[in-house]
Amino acid sequence: MLKPRRGEKGRRRGVVTDQEALREVRFLLGSASRDREYLIEHLHRVQDHFGCLAHRHILALAEEMRLAVVEVFETATFYHHFDVLQEDEAAPPSCTVRVCTSISCEMAGAGPLMTALRASLEPGAVRVIPAPCVGRCSDAPVAVVQQHPVAPACPETVARAVQDGDFACPLPEAAVDYQAYCAQGGYQLLADCHGGRRDREAILSCLEESGLRGLGGAGFPAGRKWRLLLEQPAPRLVAINIDEGEPGTFKDRCYLETDPHRFIEGSLIAAWAIEAEAVYLYLRDEYAGCRRLLARELEALREAATVPLPAIHLRRGAGAYICGEESAMIESMEGKRGLPRLRPPYVAEVGLFGRPTLEHNLETVHWVREIIERGAGWFRSQGRRGRVGLRSFSVSGRVARPGMYLAPAGISVRELIEEYCGGMQDGHEFYGYFPGGASGGILPAGLGDEPLDFDTLQQHGCFIGSAAIIVFSDQDSARALARNAMRFFEDESCGQCTPCRVGTAKAAALMDREHWDRPLLEELASCMEDASICGLGQAAPNPLRCTFRYFPQEFESGARSDAPREGG
Ligand code: SF4
Repeated sequence: MLKPRRGEKGRRRGVVTDQEALREVRFLLGSASRDREYLIEHLHRVQDHFGCLAHRHILALAEEMRLAVVEVFETATFYHHFDVLQEDEAAPPSCTVRVCTSISCEMAGAGPLMTALRASLEPGAVRVIPAPCVGRCSDAPVAVVQQHPVAPACPETVARAVQDGDFACPLPEAAVDYQAYCAQGGYQLLADCHGGRRDREAILSCLEESGLRGLGGAGFPAGRKWRLLLEQPAPRLVAINIDEGEPGTFKDRCYLETDPHRFIEGSLIAAWAIEAEAVYLYLRDEYAGCRRLLARELEALREAATVPLPAIHLRRGAGAYICGEESAMIESMEGKRGLPRLRPPYVAEVGLFGRPTLEHNLETVHWVREIIERGAGWFRSQGRRGRVGLRSFSVSGRVARPGMYLAPAGISVRELIEEYCGGMQDGHEFYGYFPGGASGGILPAGLGDEPLDFDTLQQHGCFIGSAAIIVFSDQDSARALARNAMRFFEDESCGQCTPCRVGTAKAAALMDREHWDRPLLEELASCMEDASICGLGQAAPNPLRCTFRYFPQEFESGARSDAPREGG
């Protein structure tokens, strides 16, 4: 309970701050800015040090940052990765094992893995909790010991990681570092832009002609977005979204772990083209190794850059799927809860800190250098079936070789499975697939020849989004996987609007029943689609609706159980 103050001058009224906690917080923050935008960064500093956020540290942080306690509390409790304790609540065990329970991991046996870990790991010393997708679906099932991913995970490998006590996420070793990137001609294009050897209009036209679209899921034409930004008053900003939380998606991590400077150069060219003052990178907290890598490589760039760089800020997410939505990400970058904004105004007009902001997914800017160097025609010539460009498909599930594959836009899932993934796993027959992660709906094998690209799957009630393809087999149940997706949306709904907050919870409860009440679920789905503020609530019913539409056999009497199959 908060204790009232008794009129001490110059101090905030209403709460008593523990002076020892204040000293600790001040020590951890050091000389860092106390501005509101750094609240999430500072919460991380406290939690990284103490393993949780004690009530007294919340109060101390509020005082130190001159914020209302409720602002700190509501922000901290919004994010999954902050362990906020109530007053006098005991700290959690010093080691947390997060077991991913999203679609690919569930198919690969996450449920039995969690049960086994809870039975075998010492309960007072280790806490085992479920987690949403951690972006390593090709190695399912995945467990994360503190920040150390174990993939694929089994009780033995997780126990070994706990015993070793090495909880840091390893630095990706395959990354092309600054020197190597420059040796391959990296940053020459940026230097040409700044040196007047490249023309802004020519670069904008090249991007437009190439057909490059936003590859985070929305598919908005990149060149047009840059032009829209130029029409907005300065100062402008660039914000790069590396929050890929869509279950099944891990392409951005693959690019980050291997070639981090390519997207950085693309971001800097974008900043040059729209005359942006600063670049903000928002990286999901699950990618701790990438965070260390990016910090190192950004430092190398700053030290050696031959052109004037805008300020580059690396921001750390804290575990919230909704922060992949552009306006929610911007709220989070400002140090707040990740609540999507009502639009208009659009982020391009009123974005980060109220400024016009060019928001892009990492992969979109990853392609900028290559498209400009090789020409728009090169990129345009890559598609199949009349589609344009290349897509980075994150493929997981029952295929023989899951992984990230660069393939022509417009390829079908059947071709992807056969040409890139080595076919299906032994003993599994292709039965259906998620074409765009949990939110993109579910299609049956009978629609396995459809071109995978933007604007091709809407007629089937689906979309490709971030190209996260989850393949399932005759040994899986579409009902069970749709239920998994709805539970995920229930957990990840930001709670801002009723159709989504209540709708996802109600739908998940109805889908737990043996008999699915179709009229009621359809009505609920319509309400969510029509009245939710953002894409999460609008797309959440997609897997549910597709299950009714494409897998009617699973609702016939005598159909097999939708309980998830154990193991892989
Ligand atoms: Fe939040 Fe869901 Fe509403 Fe989006 S639709 S604003 S996630 S409650």
